[in-house]
Amino acid sequence: MYYETAKNIRESLTADCMKCFGLCCTALNIVASSDFAINKIAGTPCPNLQGDFRCEIHKNLREKGFNGCTVFDCLGAGQKVSQVTFNGQSWQEHPEIAKKMFSVFPVMEQLYEMIAFIAEALTYDVSHSLQDKLNKQLEKLQSLTDMNADSLLSLDIISCRLPVNELLLKTSEYIRSELSSKVFAIKKGKKCRGVDWIGKNLAGKDLRTTDLRGAYLIGADLRDANLSGSNLSSSMFLTQMQINSAKGNDKTILPSHIQRPSHWIN
Ligand code: SF4
Repeated sequence: MYYETAKNIRESLTADCMKCFGLCCTALNIVASSDFAINKIAGTPCPNLQGDFRCEIHKNLREKGFNGCTVFDCLGAGQKVSQVTFNGQSWQEHPEIAKKMFSVFPVMEQLYEMIAFIAEALTYDVSHSLQDKLNKQLEKLQSLTDMNADSLLSLDIISCRLPVNELLLKTSEYIRSELSSKVFAIKKGKKCRGVDWIGKNLAGKDLRTTDLRGAYLIGADLRDANLSGSNLSSSMFLTQMQINSAKGNDKTILPSHIQRPSHWIN
């Protein structure tokens, strides 16, 4: 697959709430915390969800204690389930499909997440054999998203994740070895190119002026990390959710598939 095609696939993975039946606001569990003002069990609509599937407090989510909603990104899984898997039938008009629809959504969400990572991996200059494996995995995942609801529900999602994780690690290792001569240690002046922060919690860490080019941030918890002025343009496997949960400004440089969060002060 050509770089441009992979890049286009990755960039096309965005939520379109207008085509979704409020699935993230209904299907998922909400636990009262610093991110959510209420408790809500999976399969019940949030009290702020309106009849037209829009959020009543959309413009004031943070002020009302729903930070978690501004962070969440289904990558388009919601509209896929709504418009393709269930053919445009909503759980409101057809309550008999509600339970199944709400169960399919988290499965689709995980498939979309894997597709996003694999598509991103294909935007890197990797070996032909790795590229071939990534392409096959992408095709497989894309075909899984077109299965019907019953097939999706019978999918062993953990078994799907294993080869994906392995390929992402191989991609990461490949890029890491290619970059090895350019790696800088964390030191005064905050040059963190190529630094390995996989799985590290960076909450509260002040990263202003830090160059994170080539940094590995898979799974990093970026809540409240200050990314103002950081260059994240080539950080591998950075997600919209990680960025949404962090702080930043108009000087923060983001990868092309990541949107600048509206709550960042310009
Ligand atoms: S507060 Fe709004 S965005 Fe958040 S779950 Fe409720 S309806 Fe959805």
